[in-house]
Amino acid sequence: MRVQTFVAGCALALALFLFAQRQGAMTLPSGFHAVIDLTHEVGSRTPGFDASEVFRAKTINTIEKDKYFGRSFSLPEHFGTHIDAPAHFAKGLWTVDQIPTERLVAPLVVLDVRNQISGNPNYLISVEDIARWEKVNGHIPQGSVVLARTGWSSRWGSGKDYRNLDAKGVLHFPGYALDTAKFLVEARNVIGIGIDTLSVDTGSSEDFPVHQYSLSHSVYHLENVANLEHVPPAGAVVVVAPMKLEGGSGGPVRILALVR
Ligand SMILES: [Zn+2]
Repeated sequence: MRVQTFVAGCALALALFLFAQRQGAMTLPSGFHAVIDLTHEVGSRTPGFDASEVFRAKTINTIEKDKYFGRSFSLPEHFGTHIDAPAHFAKGLWTVDQIPTERLVAPLVVLDVRNQISGNPNYLISVEDIARWEKVNGHIPQGSVVLARTGWSSRWGSGKDYRNLDAKGVLHFPGYALDTAKFLVEARNVIGIGIDTLSVDTGSSEDFPVHQYSLSHSVYHLENVANLEHVPPAGAVVVVAPMKLEGGSGGPVRILALVR
């Protein structure tokens, strides 16, 4: 018995050793070499589109009292890093739970427009910006998600700077020009467009033309996107994982970039 116990012990030790070795040398099973999180944390300091929009969390269970920890929370659907479902502006089109899963994994295009924005917070991302990207990287692949990197996410830590209100209470941050959204949807068949600001429409917009147009074409939006500086302009794959909120006009989303 003692010998058997010793042998079993040795076998277990060997298995643990080999398993630990495998763990150490592990590469991502997907074949991608990094997974970048394009999502901001949702919390009490998250800047809302309107200052009145806030995240609330309440502790309802504690380890001390209940032996487990749990909270309830509430937040607007369009808050923090989130998705706009087509139903947000187009009655009868997909709510967030209805967006087909095939549309939630796609080639990722990162459009770096920081140079054009310097000094112009009302910059409208233009078709020329797309042409500039395509000159280097080739045509935008069909069925891509395009995310604009304006550099605005560096202001995330300050709601005041991120919203950038003027004396009249008008927001100022960059967004897409309507023609650019039309080009992406009609000439490049993208399935989603996004940006590292509060909205795909520029802050001072009153009628949200990009929202009106692309959502009515069943193209979703990703807003308040983070960490685009860690993703190459072309070649990554994006995984868009929204909360499956029944009947939602949009909602919190986890966005992951799989980098080759
Ligand atoms: Zn939204």
